[in-house]
Amino acid sequence: MVSFYYRKRKRCQTMTTTFASLSRPAQSNLERISTFMQLTGKVALVTGAGSGIGRATALLLAQEGAKVAALDLRQDRTEEMTATIAENGGEGLGLAADVANAGEMEQAVARIIDHWGRLDLVVANAGINGVWAPIEEITPEEWDTTLAVNLKGTFLTVKYATPHLKKAGGAIVVLSSVNGTRIFSNTGATAYSCAKAAQVAFTKMMALELAPHRVRINAICPGGVATNIRENTQLRNVEQVRQPVTFHNGPIPLTGNERATPEQLAQLIFFLLSDNASHITGTEMWIDGAQSLLQG
Ligand code: NAD
Repeated sequence: MVSFYYRKRKRCQTMTTTFASLSRPAQSNLERISTFMQLTGKVALVTGAGSGIGRATALLLAQEGAKVAALDLRQDRTEEMTATIAENGGEGLGLAADVANAGEMEQAVARIIDHWGRLDLVVANAGINGVWAPIEEITPEEWDTTLAVNLKGTFLTVKYATPHLKKAGGAIVVLSSVNGTRIFSNTGATAYSCAKAAQVAFTKMMALELAPHRVRINAICPGGVATNIRENTQLRNVEQVRQPVTFHNGPIPLTGNERATPEQLAQLIFFLLSDNASHITGTEMWIDGAQSLLQG
């Protein structure tokens, strides 16, 4: 079977030959408008790449020409991802690691450098909802776990990637959420919301620190997305602390009850990583069909 990726690459090769025969002004005009295989030659790291938003993003980045390191806690998922990337004609590297573990993240980044010799793009995506419960019920250990995966995991991902991104410039996208940035009515989701709010502060701190090295970093804040995140969600007695609210037309003004697809998220992440976003850094962007404006 000739894959979509292969056909795209073939078309790209033909276009390259045609491109070389054009005049300089015509070439620069084409360069400006081209959206073809924009990530060729780049190496990307996507954490939490085995499911949902991370998976869709890893596949899209590979389709756009990047070599993709697909990192996930679950080895079966990293293996499945690299096989899928290869089936589509791309190049992937599976990395089983816990984003909250400094040693494992340092080693994972070292493996990317051993394998491909560079790192240009990072998607700090791995995250869990963790335990959502009234404040008296959340244990200190549960609080630590949510913060460790969502916030420390982002810190470790960016920390170990930074020396390599600085070499030739690069771009980072951090997965925050509407929770903790615009929505404060998911009572019980306190640890999650605090981690997601802190990820935006982290993004802004990093934007200034890394700007002189031509490394951009932005955060995106999704509303509901149809993924497997409920696997990593434990709700305990939240109904005791929640205000009962009903949205007759559904909580997402743009679609009613229909959540975003992981592919819609991947498109925004791709845009922010690409040169089309070359002047955007230190910004958070909501992608939620206006859910957060309604729910607040
Ligand atoms: P998902 O559960 O479908 O996928 C997350 C992946 O991360 C899984 O493959 C899981 O194995 C992996 N993972 C979990 N803990 C890890 C760890 N410690 N180290 C490495 N990998 C780990 O979730 P998703 O919905 O795709 O969520 C991705 C990100 O988007 C998260 O940061 C989440 O907070 C954020 N987000 C999701 C939604 C939503 O509605 N799904 C909304 C807003 C924000």
